[in-house]
Amino acid sequence: MTARSGIGIDVHPLVAGRPLILGGFIVPFEKGLAGHSDGDVLIHAVIDAVLGGAGLGDIGSHFPSTDARYKGIASAVMLREVLRLANNSGWKTTYVDATIVAERPMLSPFMGQIKAALAQSLDAGPDGLNLKAKTTDGLGFLGRGEGIAALAIATLERT
Ligand code: MG
Repeated sequence: MTARSGIGIDVHPLVAGRPLILGGFIVPFEKGLAGHSDGDVLIHAVIDAVLGGAGLGDIGSHFPSTDARYKGIASAVMLREVLRLANNSGWKTTYVDATIVAERPMLSPFMGQIKAALAQSLDAGPDGLNLKAKTTDGLGFLGRGEGIAALAIATLERT
């Protein structure tokens, strides 16, 4: 097999007193995502997608939230480590498609910067990443702004 895909999903609560980091970019907002790491829900979904495609388990098995070493860690650092692990297993990530689900803040003004930051961490060219933002039209915990979710699918090719 020369190509495989993996999926990822993540959700984090929005809380006061934290920066909102998506794809490694700090989005101006009065709340941020809680989490053991920097709470970057987008990168966490991408990490699980890459690990899935490489057949390497999930983010929790590589970066346990009980491990003090990963407290406050930049998720972009975790992503780089996961890309390295996938490469060592013979899989190069060639394409990622991801969706952020957030009612607030309105992400459209920042999508270019979020995409550029994530593309840099992925080592992806302009054609290697697609990024989308959705709301739930006010429905559910995401619609009430209690958190932000992200979904991702990664394509990996044999090196
Ligand atoms: Mg997470």
